[in-house]
Amino acid sequence: MYRILIGQFKHETNTFNEKVTTLDDYRRRNLTEGEALMTRNRGSESELGAFIEIFEKRGDVEIIPSIDADAIPAGTVTKETYDYIAGKLFDTYKKEEAKKHIDGICLALHGAQVNGYSEDGEGYLLAALRKLTGPDLPIVITLDFHANMTKEMVELTTAMFPARYYPHTDFYDRGKDAANMILAVLDGKAHPTAAFKQLRMIYPHIPTAFEPINGMINSMICEAAAEDVYFVGFDAGFTRSDISIQGSCVYAITENNTEKAEQLCAKYYDFILKNLEAFEIQITDADEAVEEAMKHEGLSIIADAADNPGSGLYGDATEILHVLMRHGAKKVAVSTIWDPGTAEAAWEAGPGKTIHVRLGGKSSDKVGSPVETDAYVRAVTDGNYIIKGPMKKGVQVPTGKTAVLTFGEFTVVVISNKTQSFDMESLRANGVEPLDYDICVVKSAIHYRAAWSQVSDHLLTVDMPNITSFDEKKVPYKNVKRPIFPLDSADVIRSLG
Ligand SMILES: [Zn+2]
Repeated sequence: MYRILIGQFKHETNTFNEKVTTLDDYRRRNLTEGEALMTRNRGSESELGAFIEIFEKRGDVEIIPSIDADAIPAGTVTKETYDYIAGKLFDTYKKEEAKKHIDGICLALHGAQVNGYSEDGEGYLLAALRKLTGPDLPIVITLDFHANMTKEMVELTTAMFPARYYPHTDFYDRGKDAANMILAVLDGKAHPTAAFKQLRMIYPHIPTAFEPINGMINSMICEAAAEDVYFVGFDAGFTRSDISIQGSCVYAITENNTEKAEQLCAKYYDFILKNLEAFEIQITDADEAVEEAMKHEGLSIIADAADNPGSGLYGDATEILHVLMRHGAKKVAVSTIWDPGTAEAAWEAGPGKTIHVRLGGKSSDKVGSPVETDAYVRAVTDGNYIIKGPMKKGVQVPTGKTAVLTFGEFTVVVISNKTQSFDMESLRANGVEPLDYDICVVKSAIHYRAAWSQVSDHLLTVDMPNITSFDEKKVPYKNVKRPIFPLDSADVIRSLG
């Protein structure tokens, strides 16, 4: 019988966001301890769901749940918050190890946590964990596609499985990889060796279905089909971390052969270096995007990519609404505007009432002015929904007190807990059917494509004013290590080898 401790501690820290992340932010999204971790995650297509499924199927694993903590991306995680969550993980380990030996640890981490202690939040966490476990205990982790991978993380883990795709539709598969890997190590069948190579490149918001990254990932998957290769992947880094360790990388895991892992990394490092210019995004002007959407027959989706709460932005930017109004756009649904005060006012008034609102535009003077209007309260809901689309299917999302407001041609879902609107349930669970509209505005950069492309093939991305920009070249970086593409030219990067 193997005793395997599992847990999740995720945060994607946007260092441009001035609002620090506290324990209350975790409580608002997900802070689950002990046995409740099992009921929350069993059957979901998340990493923890995959760990539980694989270990329970095996029959000879005793799962030890520790903590499951996930908060919406925002500013730095405070020391107190880190201490509480990491403390629960460490305490569970110490208590259970004292009872009977723990054989391994499987964790779902993000990889882009910046906390009060370190800009390499996960490296810091793993170093503290290793102090308790010693160097040899198998520790296998999953990571986001946007992890800022470091040498420390590679050295402190037995193996890591970063999400391959953007949108991240493979958390569940990477969770299964991690669970299967730790079992193979415990069975004495696998002796993983890893290598990684950092690139001088800030990876922009390009979906992995686009070329040349699509072909590169498919080639990596073919390499990993070899008997002595477990994983070859590309990890993007997190573009909203203005820290010295930010950057993308290639990573490989082989069977007891570090040299081969290094060769695989070098191969894809060279490929990216040669093709650097292809890793730059094209952005449509907002007026053009709105005109295109209005001309298009059928539903168009406009992604307000610079205000994506999934990357730690505030989620209450209004400028795209103003542009749509100026153009006289018809039948527009907006998913979502984060504005707890307005949601509360709608709750107080109740459905069927008309209220005067100053909607959104309050977080910063850079996100557009509030939309001031009389609005009809069409519905109020508790804001809880379960994801039905291909990314994180089955996972609960709590948006807090939520209201559906209509005014003129607009229907807007107003939420109290900010969240990225990558799933269509962000509208549907509130009684708003996307197909009834000509234009849906989503607060998302890329992830929305996984679900929303099921109802529209007309996806437009705009880069509206905000505290940062969708265009990396306009982001006010101060601390990333230069030279780096696209802030510095491809030729300069290539000359460094
Ligand atoms: Zn990500």
